[in-house]
Amino acid sequence: MKKPNIVILGAGYGGIMTAVKLQKSLGVNEANVTLVNRHSYHYQTTWLHENAAGTLHHDRTRIPIKDVINSSKINFVQDSVISINPDEKQVTLENGELEYDYLVIGLGFEAETFGIPGLKEHAFGISSINSARLIRQHIEYNFARYNNEKEPNEELLNIVVGGAGFTGIEFVGELANRVPELCKEYDIPREKVRLINVEAAPTALPGFDPALVEYAMNSLESRGVEFKIGAMIKEVTPNGLIYEKDEKREEIRSNTVVWAAGVRGNSIVDESGFETMRGRVKVREDLRTPDYDDVFVVGDCALIINEETDRPYPPTAQMAIQMAGTVAHNVKVLARGETDLEPFEPNIQGTVASLGHDDAIGVVFDDKKLFGWSASVMKKVIDNRYLLKLGGIGLLLKKGKFNIFH
Ligand code: FAD
Ligand code: NAD
Repeated sequence: MKKPNIVILGAGYGGIMTAVKLQKSLGVNEANVTLVNRHSYHYQTTWLHENAAGTLHHDRTRIPIKDVINSSKINFVQDSVISINPDEKQVTLENGELEYDYLVIGLGFEAETFGIPGLKEHAFGISSINSARLIRQHIEYNFARYNNEKEPNEELLNIVVGGAGFTGIEFVGELANRVPELCKEYDIPREKVRLINVEAAPTALPGFDPALVEYAMNSLESRGVEFKIGAMIKEVTPNGLIYEKDEKREEIRSNTVVWAAGVRGNSIVDESGFETMRGRVKVREDLRTPDYDDVFVVGDCALIINEETDRPYPPTAQMAIQMAGTVAHNVKVLARGETDLEPFEPNIQGTVASLGHDDAIGVVFDDKKLFGWSASVMKKVIDNRYLLKLGGIGLLLKKGKFNIFH
């Protein structure tokens, strides 16, 4: 029998964990497994806000794929996916084509811009190592410029973050710690710098535990973050942004607007003809697309409805990692010519969000609330557990977070 070709697109949480699981469970004589990714490294998307703020170097966040993938079992192709043709079972890459018998789509997320004018052109987004590095360097450059201008220019020192969801809150938490360091480095009085978080909903972190939201806002405000709540961003311009609050339009002048106000699945998925909601395919319970028995979707490109709330599960790394277990199992079953596919059953173990390296909030183990140092330790435990799963003790020791006492 011909060995089936299994192709995995994207080496984010979902894609790389699928590959790692398949390399453990499938023999080399059973299938050809190919992993495609734009870069030679996997990155921890959940740490990108730290790279963007400059509180953690991006080399801590990226992990060479060759360090976790066994090249005698998995063929790694560094290339960019352009499109997928599910009827022909083909994937077009920037530099070639791949044929598959089974496909796993794990191409992750991109910013949802909601058609807001000027957003694509003038705002930054936190979505990859490259985008995070650009934000860090842009902020530093603006601080460096400040004392070289003839007239004081507030736009250089105003940093505006759109959205107070988990990404926006975690990012301003890092910035709140980074700004005093930058001020020292570039001879700028701290009070000249404004750090502004703009949120459309009536509260930061809508839907999260109100007591923890209050804790987070107090912690961030005490470190100089200004919140504009109930303020809907309407436009981003070369000199800042315009928001609407209480039916009035206001402008904030800024050279640095970072959009952290929503994500969608990778647009390659809908452009390839799959039916999606904001780039996310509503998958069957075995994580295959509704129309193709040979295409699985893992991570942020998949949409799964939580039957208890009748709403989609939020796209998270936690979900992507868990989905990889089911996808790897089901792909293996099909590759062996068997039929007993398992359904995906999410096991949400809680949510913990950082507010800087030594502060955090979280709800874990069925409603236990954590905040402050204990939540921050929990966050690092979660991060370290992932590294252990991905690459064993060696990777944990190389990349883990062990700074729990400061
Ligand atoms: P991704 O992690 O987005 O990976 C996609 C991969 O595909 C990348 O390697 C990318 O380079 C590659 N790729 C994309 N397009 C192409 C292409 N055309 N060709 C080739 N390769 C391509 N979730 C949590 O559970 N906990 C957290 O604490 C948390 N913190 C977060 C913090 C931040 C700042 C952000 C932005 C998100 C956070 N999330 C968190 C959400 C989480 O990061 C995502 O849900 C998760 O990354 C989704 O994983 P994924 O495998 O679907 O895709
Ligand atoms: P999100 O959709 O969770 O939050 C976006 C926020 O932006 C919302 O509060 C929304 O009201 C606001 N917003 C939308 N349009 C706006 C506008 N025009 N003006 C002002 N505000 C606007 O997006 P996210 O924070 O990027 O998170 C994406 C996913 O990643 C989520 O599933 C989240 O749970 C996950 N995540 C998890 C963690 C964690 O667990 N620690 C951290 C970061 C992200």
